[in-house]
Amino acid sequence: MDYAEALKQAPSMVAELRRRIMPEKGEKPEISAPAQKPSAPLSIHVMSDCDSIYSLLYRHAENVADLLGSKHPSVPIVGDWEPVGLPAGTTPEDAHGHALKLARYLEHQTHMVPIEWERKISREIVKVMDRLTERYPAHEPPERLNARCRECERLTLYRYLPKRYGADERFKCQSCGLHHTAEEVAVQQLKREKENK
Ligand SMILES: [Zn+2]
Repeated sequence: MDYAEALKQAPSMVAELRRRIMPEKGEKPEISAPAQKPSAPLSIHVMSDCDSIYSLLYRHAENVADLLGSKHPSVPIVGDWEPVGLPAGTTPEDAHGHALKLARYLEHQTHMVPIEWERKISREIVKVMDRLTERYPAHEPPERLNARCRECERLTLYRYLPKRYGADERFKCQSCGLHHTAEEVAVQQLKREKENK
């Protein structure tokens, strides 16, 4: 990926990794995930991966601010001398917000620093984001629902998980391509239940 794309994806990555570290109430932790899934990395590795991209964004925001004599966004960071990562207990939502501030700052300011620095910063961030997206594929396969498409009536209605953190999931028929809202899907699922009785 290029630098712009790496900065665009970094906040979602940070949030997604935080989410894996701290499963929400009622959600099963990664460790007890079904056996058919590839075994999840231990959450200590997830945490260090999460910190690696967050602290890298932070460190380069600091560098850019130093070079430009400006101020980088004020976000929480652990580490007295070298930035290490997010404070314990940071929620995925907050983590996303902090990372987004850093990414937006870098997006708008990096091109103003000397070219050697611009190259170094973009190379390092792209390298880490390439590694993380390979390790944690963002897109789980769409889930087939037990419901008929309201247009073509085939049983090919799928749920697609959001591509970006905080976005809505989408429902689409893979036969005719028609998009459904969550309400329409609920109606179709109810019809299907009656059909099966
Ligand atoms: Zn259809």
